[in-house]
Amino acid sequence: MNRIYFDHAATTQVDQAVADLMFEYMTDKFGNPSSIHGFGREAFSAVDKARQQVADLIGATPEEIYFTSGGTEGDNLAIKGIAYANKNKGKHIITTSIEHHAVLHTCQQLEQEGFEVTYLPVNDEAVVDIEVLRQAITPGTILISIMYANNEVGSIQPIEDIVRLGHEYGIDVHTDAVQVAGNYPINVTDCPVDALTLSGHKFYGPKGIGAIYVRKGTRILAIQQGGGQEKNLRAGTENVPGIVGLGLAAEVAQREMVDRVEQISNLRDQLIRGIMKSIPDTKINGHASNRLPGNVNFSFIGVEGESLLLNLDMKGIAASSGSACSSGSLSPSHVLLAMGLPHEVAHGSLRITLGRHNTEQEVNYLLEVLPPIIERLRSMSAWDGQSYSKKQEDYCSNCQLK
Ligand SMILES: *Cc1c(COP(=O)(O)O)cnc(C)c1O
Repeated sequence: MNRIYFDHAATTQVDQAVADLMFEYMTDKFGNPSSIHGFGREAFSAVDKARQQVADLIGATPEEIYFTSGGTEGDNLAIKGIAYANKNKGKHIITTSIEHHAVLHTCQQLEQEGFEVTYLPVNDEAVVDIEVLRQAITPGTILISIMYANNEVGSIQPIEDIVRLGHEYGIDVHTDAVQVAGNYPINVTDCPVDALTLSGHKFYGPKGIGAIYVRKGTRILAIQQGGGQEKNLRAGTENVPGIVGLGLAAEVAQREMVDRVEQISNLRDQLIRGIMKSIPDTKINGHASNRLPGNVNFSFIGVEGESLLLNLDMKGIAASSGSACSSGSLSPSHVLLAMGLPHEVAHGSLRITLGRHNTEQEVNYLLEVLPPIIERLRSMSAWDGQSYSKKQEDYCSNCQLK
């Protein structure tokens, strides 16, 4: 059976040219960039080139790029590093209730250490209200950390407005752009955040490598100690194969960005229309139009998400319910709950995230197998087919695609 991969928000397949290049830097060109001999200089210039490639992807300068072990470390470093560097100014941080756990748990850790954190609510499309953000600002606010786009429901935040507001009050703004970088255009000149996190394996690069952008002049402290790599901000011998892989993935992504966004968002809209047409009592989660090109997220009322995933898996389709980290657990997604979905609706959610290798045939196959699965699961569930649909307007205010 052919396997179909619809889980690109969890991870992506490494590009073949990227894998080939990485292999070279594990075998022939294995030097340590800190060594002064030829092997070292070869590795050093490869890291240098990758830094430029990553900078180009987001419109930064190479001096503003610091390599990390991925998105999780990047979020930790940016948030803790800026918090520690500014704690004499204040101890208040603002984030949202729909962040990735790499941000949420970092903020909770900072609360343990005496910082104060406000977790902003979001509306039913998972978008932050700029006025609510303004009201949360206090004289002690030192950092606003709000994700560029959500990994579960795909909604894109008004980051430019958020940055403008933060800067009005002299507050640094960090954004977790892990879902966006390499998949959707992003530019730190047009959208002048002070810090940004990205990760290789979300855009056809390797796992275990990422970077943070830190605007020149932003105060930030290291959170791990050791050698002086990455201008003393991130100690440890550089992951050279990972870094060159990340660099090439960034270059390829930038070159193919326009085509990929168009191709993938066409598939997304085809899928959304198909599902809305063929499956009743369905709610689309996330912003109706301002969402990541590859993200589709639905709640099928009366269906249990885990059973749905298993049934799709038996048909060779890999999808997800909410985030990869929370699948396997039975508590519904914190993002869907923050959007105001009742537990029983949040439980029946399905996330399809499309990528550059997906085809129209694959989407059509999903549209063919999904309706009978939903029908069968509903017939086995406790749902009477009535009580939820009566309240359907409550859940389906945004059911129509714009
Ligand atoms: C995947 C992801 C992360 C974590 O990145 P890793 O490289 O897997 O550690 C952080 N934030 C968001 C929004 C993500 O999607």
